Amino acid sequence: MNTRNLIVALVCMLCAGAGNAQTKIIAHRGFWQTEGSAQNSVTALKRAAEAKLYGSEFDVQLTADGTVVVNHDDEIGGLTIGTTDYAKLKHLKLKNGETLPTLADYLKAGKALPHIQLILEIKPHPTKAQEDAIAAACVSMVKEYGMEKQVEYISFSMNICEQLARLAPDAEIAYLEGDVTPKVIKEKGLTGIDYEYKVFEKHPEWIREAHELGLKVNVWTVNREADMRKMAGLKVDYLTTDRPLEADKLLNAR
Ligand code: MG
Repeated sequence: MNTRNLIVALVCMLCAGAGNAQTKIIAHRGFWQTEGSAQNSVTALKRAAEAKLYGSEFDVQLTADGTVVVNHDDEIGGLTIGTTDYAKLKHLKLKNGETLPTLADYLKAGKALPHIQLILEIKPHPTKAQEDAIAAACVSMVKEYGMEKQVEYISFSMNICEQLARLAPDAEIAYLEGDVTPKVIKEKGLTGIDYEYKVFEKHPEWIREAHELGLKVNVWTVNREADMRKMAGLKVDYLTTDRPLEADKLLNAR
C-alpha cells in the first residue's frame, strides 16, 4: 500500500470509529472500592482519574450556613447537614480518614485532573429555597474555578435541574428520577436523561427517543456484568457503576 492509500485507509478507520462510540464509564461516588479510598472522598476522584475513566460522580449537600459539602446522605456523624453550620462539620472524617470535603476541595482537586469529568449530583433538599441556593452556589463556584466544561450536573430534583438550566444554560444537565419522557426533558432545556437501568428495561425506546432529540443517555447504577452488557447493547452513552474497572474492561477493551 502506498502512503496515500495508507492515509485514506486510516481516515476511514477513524470515521468508522467515530460512528461507533463506546460506552463511557462513570465511577459512582468516585472509585471507592480500592485501597485507601472511600465514597465521595477526594481520593476516590483521584483514583477514578488514575483509572482513566470518563467521569467521577459525587453528591453534594448544603449546610445551614450555605457551604456546599460532598456527602451522599443528608446527615453525617449524627448531625443533619442542612441544619448544622459548616464549622461543626468540618472536622468530621470519612471512612478512609479523609476530612469531609467541600465542593471547593473537590473542584480544586478536579482542576488538577483535567482529563476526567466531574459529575456533580445535587441532592434534593427539604425546601425550594435550599434547592435554589445550592444550585446557585454550585454554578457560581464552578464558574469561579473556570470548570464549566469539566463539570456536568445531575439531580433527582426537577426543580434543581430547572434552576441549573436557567443559571448555566450551556451546561450538561441530566435528570435522574426516571419518571418523565425524553420529550419532557428536552422541553425543559435539559441535556440528558440519567435513569436507573430498570427504567430502560421497561422503556428501552426512551434511549432512541433521547438520541433523536439530541439528548445524552446515562444509566445508574449498573454493577452486574449481564446488566452492563445489556445497557451497552441498548447504546447508552454513559454507564455509572460501583465497579468501574470491570465495566471499562468489559465494554471498552483497550
Ligand atoms: Mg449520587
